Formats: sequence, structure tokens, C-alpha cells
Amino acid sequence: MERVYNFSAGPSMLPLPVLEKIQKELVCYGNSGMSVMEMSHRSKVFEEIIQGAEKLLRELMDIPDNYKVMFLQGGGSTQFAMIPMNLFKNKKADFVKTGQWAKKAIEEASKFGTANVIASSEDKTYSYIPVLHKEDFSKDADYFYITYNNTIYGTRYTELPDTGDVPLVADISSNIMSEVIDVNKFGLLFAGAQKNVGPAGVTIVIMREDLISEPISGTPTMLNYSIHSNAGSLYNTPPCFAIYAAKLVFEWIKDMGGVKGVQAINEEKAGILYDYLDASNMFKGTVVYKDRSLMNIPFVTKSDELNAKFIKEATDSGFVNLKGHRTVGGMRASIYNAMPVEGVSKLVEFMKKFEVDNK
Ligand SMILES: *Cc1c(COP(=O)(O)O)cnc(C)c1O
Repeated sequence: MERVYNFSAGPSMLPLPVLEKIQKELVCYGNSGMSVMEMSHRSKVFEEIIQGAEKLLRELMDIPDNYKVMFLQGGGSTQFAMIPMNLFKNKKADFVKTGQWAKKAIEEASKFGTANVIASSEDKTYSYIPVLHKEDFSKDADYFYITYNNTIYGTRYTELPDTGDVPLVADISSNIMSEVIDVNKFGLLFAGAQKNVGPAGVTIVIMREDLISEPISGTPTMLNYSIHSNAGSLYNTPPCFAIYAAKLVFEWIKDMGGVKGVQAINEEKAGILYDYLDASNMFKGTVVYKDRSLMNIPFVTKSDELNAKFIKEATDSGFVNLKGHRTVGGMRASIYNAMPVEGVSKLVEFMKKFEVDNK
């Protein structure tokens, strides 16, 4: 069986050199005589892996020294609750509602205090990033929350809100390390690994040190940032294998010229697909031009029947997981870091042919 071009929104493609390295090291890692899956998380060998992963992440994302890095479990979805539980003091935060993931974060925060929605793009199926007016921001908010890249709807912020002294918190699950992000602008960043960083199982949290404090009373130990931070992500057994795989992805990103190098390739890939969507008489992108994502590109034809025909024929030709999210319909191509330029060019060639054949 040959490998396909996998446009899945997540879990998604991993770089082939990373998979091959995992295969090579799977049974016997280095001189340890065992697999990473089998070793103690307190062993010297694993210590080198987790510390190496953090060091590379810090280097690649240019994370300042006053930020803590944590490798946690529970996915992005656990962060929706963990953030309010740890950051709520006035028990109030501002949110921009740009899709399902923002909505879930709002719902979780509402359980612990006031989740104030200051802007939303729900009126047009989240196909744009709303304009934010500073006078709507709450001065006494504990944080200001955005979903940086909206995986389902294919939008992203190209300009960040200026929240002054209120810490900016961002869900970067689907754009971590795909473009340069200035960590200094944020109080907290988090991402599940399974889109751009590695296999599912590890969640990365990057948090300004001074924001780590006593959580609200009743917070379980496992949901307390200071516990994980003080223990260097080794309070309990971390997702060892996922951290190891993420480290290999970081090494691959470094080889690709770092986040800057990868961003240039991502801009090229997205450009190839958007240029065709803009020129096509059959396929149309669904997102407002200025808010288009580099990672997730939703598009449609004029009918559900034609969409279904396209998805079927594309799948048969080795372009898989192009079906759009159930709330948007149509198609979505997720072209994360690991998708090569060739995968996108070949998809566009296939779309061009489909357009001619189905006139
Ligand atoms: C996938 C995704 C999530 C959910 O992540 P889980 O790890 O499945 O909990 C949250 N936010 C965004 C932006 C995502 O793309």
C-alpha cells in the first residue's frame, strides 16, 4: 500500500522522515535496550528526551525565559477548563466567538465565572474574524481569549488585539509552529499536538511565569498549572511516546529552516490552492480574503452532489480526508506543516481536471 496525500484536519500527516526515524528506533532506542514506550519517565534517557524537546521548542518558537513550557495531557479541550480554573481571580474573561472551538472554550469558562463574548462571526457561519473595538474590552477581565486559527472554518487572525494589561490567551492547536508567533504578546498559548506537532496525546502549554498562581478552590491537582510547572511536566507519568515523537518533529522543523522556513513553505502551499480557488469557475473558497488560514482551506462547488462526486473521485485518486466539517459542508483541505508542496500542487492539478471533466 502506498502512502496517500492526507488532508485530515487532525490527527493529521506527520513528516515521513519522522515516521521513518520512529520506525528505526521503535524497538530499541539508542543504547537503552528498550523502546521509548517501555522506559521509566524518571530514567536518565527519558529525561534527555523531554528536556531536549523543551529546549528545541524554546529555540524554534523563541520562547522568552520568563515563560514556562508544560507537556500535559487531555488535549486542547481540557485547556478550555484549566485556563479559567487557574486564571480566574475576578472570575471574568473576554472571548471572541470565531467557531466551535471558541464556543466550547466559552461554555467551559461559563462554569466558573463570566465568559463575556465581545465579538462573534456566527452570523456568517464564522467565515471571517470580527473587527474588535477596544471600548468593548473589559478592563477587569482576567484574560482575553482568542482561537488564533479556526480549524473548522479556515480563518485566522492576521492582526492581534491590543489588550493592554489584560493577558492575551490563544488556542494555537492548529497553527503552532506553522507561522512565526511572537510569544511575548501572550499570557498563555496552548496546542494539542495532533495537528502540527506530533501524535495525539501531548498538549503544549506556554505560560508567562507570573500568571501561574493558586487556582480556584476545589481545582483537582492534575488541573493545576503550578503543580505541572514545578515538576517539569513530570508530576505524574507524562505522554512519553508523544513527547518523544514531538521532539523528532521539532528536529525536522529545525532542518526545514525553523518556523520561518516552514512558514515560507506554508505560504507557498496555501498560495497555490487559493490562487486556483480564486480563478476557478467551479470551486470557491468560503472565507473572507484577509482572514484566510494558511492551514485549513474550506471550499465548495455549487451543489452537494458535485461536492460528493469530487470527494469520492479525489479519494479514489489518493487525496483523502477532504470532506468538510459537518457544520460547513463542502470540502476542506488541511495542509499542515507535514504536507509537502507537491501534495498541494497535485491536488490542484486534480481539481483542474475535475473542473474540465464536469463542465
Ligand atoms: C482540534 C482542536 C481543538 C481540540 O483539541 P483536542 O486535543 O481534541 O481536545 C481545540 N482547538 C482547536 C483550534 C483545534 O483545532
